[in-house]
Amino acid sequence: MSVMEQSHRGKRFIAMAARTEADLRELAAIPDDYAVLFLQGGATQHFAQIPMNLAGEGDGADYIVNGHWGAKAASEAAPYVRVNVAADSKADDYRRLPPRAEWKLDPRAAYVHYTPNETIHGVQHHDIPDVGEVPLVADMSSDILSAPLDVRRYGLIYAGAQKNIGPSGLVLMIVRRDLLARATRPMAKIFRYAEQAANDSMLNTPNTWGWYLAGLTFQWLKAQGGLAAMAERNRVKAERLYAAIDGSGGYYRNAIDLAARSRMNVPFTLHDNALDAPFLAESEAAGLIALKGHKALGGMRASLYNAVPLEAVDALVAFMRDFAARHG
Ligand code: PLP
Repeated sequence: MSVMEQSHRGKRFIAMAARTEADLRELAAIPDDYAVLFLQGGATQHFAQIPMNLAGEGDGADYIVNGHWGAKAASEAAPYVRVNVAADSKADDYRRLPPRAEWKLDPRAAYVHYTPNETIHGVQHHDIPDVGEVPLVADMSSDILSAPLDVRRYGLIYAGAQKNIGPSGLVLMIVRRDLLARATRPMAKIFRYAEQAANDSMLNTPNTWGWYLAGLTFQWLKAQGGLAAMAERNRVKAERLYAAIDGSGGYYRNAIDLAARSRMNVPFTLHDNALDAPFLAESEAAGLIALKGHKALGGMRASLYNAVPLEAVDALVAFMRDFAARHG
């Protein structure tokens, strides 16, 4: 029987789930006063569920918007909490982070939400922002487990699994247990994180396949040397690609503020967008797939998630040099 055919109440599944949680706790040094939840609905569902659980009626929450997903998180939260966009870099086309000194935080906010890595725009916070006593909530969908995690700095971390963990649909959440008591408004049990925590994330049939694959990923991460080793690998991968872009004499360009460049997602443009179609066709023929940029931005985007080896980056860099030489 595969994991999908087994009951999630059976001892084999329960043992797999316990090992998966223990491996993650070890990898990310998660303290005991934080619950680990394996939820469903994608990160998008939790854009709404987080305010339902962390904010009471009439409360406000601060949102730092430095890209597409942060903006979406703020708009999806709006039915459930008074959203204060405390900082927004849209006027800069999200090419830099809003400077911390300009954030208009409300000390009475229920929480501060931010997106450490913006997947589409390719901007990343390389430091955890200090927001005082207010719980910090992070959508780590596209950078979770790419580097060591300082869990204590956060109230709640969540991530859609599909980049660095496993199949889509599964959502990993790490939440300080005391925050679970905040959900006082009427809502169905299935939406209440405290219920999920009390039921080992098995209030209903969980995403058993996704959970199992997440467990295999955590075992693989441990075998690679853990999150510090992944961080070093990811640093080298990103440096190599940015060096190729910056050293191309303007043939390729990444317009993101140097201090905010993402190690996970590297958007770049060619000096003449008439070359986009041949670049995509030839790169695909060379076995380099999924380089087309998001439709909102155009151009190209190379994602360097944990599963991408250094050899793949080297192959891309070699292709880019060759393409530039051939197309002048
Ligand atoms: N947040 C970030 C940073 C993302 O990159 C994505 C995209 O996958 C999402 C949220 C949305 O995730 P999901 O499709 O799992 O709802």
